[in-house]
Amino acid sequence: MVNIRTVAVIGSGTMGAGIADVAASHGHQVLIYDIAADAISRAVDGIRARLASRVARGKLSADASGQILARLIPVTDIEALAAADLVIEAASERLEVKKALFAKLADVCPAQTLLTSNTSSISITAIAAEIRHPERVAGLHFFNPAPVMKLVEVVSGLATSSEVTDALCELAMNWGKQPVRCQSTPGFIVNRVARPFYSEAWRALEEQVATPETIDAALREGGGFPMGPLELTDMIGQDVNFAVTCSVFNAFWQERRFLPSLVQQELVLAGRLGKKSGKGVYDWHADRPAVQWSASVSDSNPVRVEKISDSVTRIDELLLIETQGETAQSLAVKHNRPVVVVDRIERDVAVIAAAFSNPDSVTRKAIGYLQQQGNRVVQIADYPGLLVWRTVAMIANEALDALQKGVASEKDIDTAMRLGVNYPSGPIAWGERLGWQRLLTLLENLQRHYGEERYRPCSLLRQRALLECSYES
Ligand code: NAD
Repeated sequence: MVNIRTVAVIGSGTMGAGIADVAASHGHQVLIYDIAADAISRAVDGIRARLASRVARGKLSADASGQILARLIPVTDIEALAAADLVIEAASERLEVKKALFAKLADVCPAQTLLTSNTSSISITAIAAEIRHPERVAGLHFFNPAPVMKLVEVVSGLATSSEVTDALCELAMNWGKQPVRCQSTPGFIVNRVARPFYSEAWRALEEQVATPETIDAALREGGGFPMGPLELTDMIGQDVNFAVTCSVFNAFWQERRFLPSLVQQELVLAGRLGKKSGKGVYDWHADRPAVQWSASVSDSNPVRVEKISDSVTRIDELLLIETQGETAQSLAVKHNRPVVVVDRIERDVAVIAAAFSNPDSVTRKAIGYLQQQGNRVVQIADYPGLLVWRTVAMIANEALDALQKGVASEKDIDTAMRLGVNYPSGPIAWGERLGWQRLLTLLENLQRHYGEERYRPCSLLRQRALLECSYES
């Protein structure tokens, strides 16, 4: 296998500059090429500024910073990339651009040069088609900002050889990164498995079940995600996040579970792109409205509280039921009594929904009871699966679908979601902990409620749920 000394980076925008910084910081000569010469100088200036700040904070010596900068070699002629052992392409996200660049690289570089793309969404198989030695072409997908984010998806196209992916994984580890291996399929791991995180939030907004700040607080404080889904799309940029969703949706032949949101499209059409434009879901120049946590209930004093099962508590005439994807009203009709459904996962935040037919005084008993148990409570409209369980079920279902289809291993899928988007748990480990049977029931109920393909449990989820039952018997 080739010994990787010289690295070439094509495209010196956001990602190219970050990747060049990482490679030079790990001792490689780095050739930086861009069609726009000013982009190269901007990238080098940016790296110089980042290094200077590290020197100022005592994290790097001035000498080491000078050596890193000396390893950056601006290049204006693509022929000069013949000297590279590894090329990382981070040019514009357009197939024609990448195919033309790889065709040129195949002419210019020796047959053993590793040719990789940092693409987020374009097929590695398509990029490698029609060039000589497609076995040395792979995806090397860094996350933004590349110097900070640990994860690298090492993506195999149909022709990529395992020696090439082995070498890239080893290199990523030497660069202090955590590589995960995956097949070239739409969205790879992270951009596919993360889709429901956003789409379930848009749906809740579309169905007007809660305010944006309540949806975000539920997922952030109740789910343990570092940011709520809506505020995250404002940070990423509504245009960028919407484009990724559309790209995954179309690449999966318009599979309904990846359907883009009309609410998000409206924001994009209005130019409300999020933080960068000052306004998106939120107005970034104004204070954010507060979450409407339920006021403390101290006067409900139930006479009788009885735990009926793991998921049902009786509080006088009311049933408090942990969500399994049915609405409170349908459960109230089924049980012929008032019902409050609660959505709570491993944290002290309880999202609740009450049946319309409940007297307020009875619903307040559930709020008081949950508060006495140390929960902050927020009430939303009666919505099947509520916010956190529903989102986690959909993410875990997508993770298992990717596993079943051979996109990546279970371990790599979980690692990718923890490190690529900082989820509090890998989704498969999370599903295992929560119980596949409960997730299956929840998704089946959602599918029944909406009559939509979107919530169909994948067959591996059914298998895992069955295994759980056989272990219990
Ligand atoms: P960017 O727009 O910041 O930079 C792209 C650079 O490529 C520009 O400087 C442009 O002049 C240059 N370029 C365009 N065509 C070129 C060509 N034919 N030859 C040489 N240079 C060319 O884009 P970015 O955000 O850095 O994204 C680059 C790649 O990385 C894309 O494939 C993108 O999907 C992927 N990516 C982006 C992110 C992100 O968060 N921005 C994360 C992961 C992957």
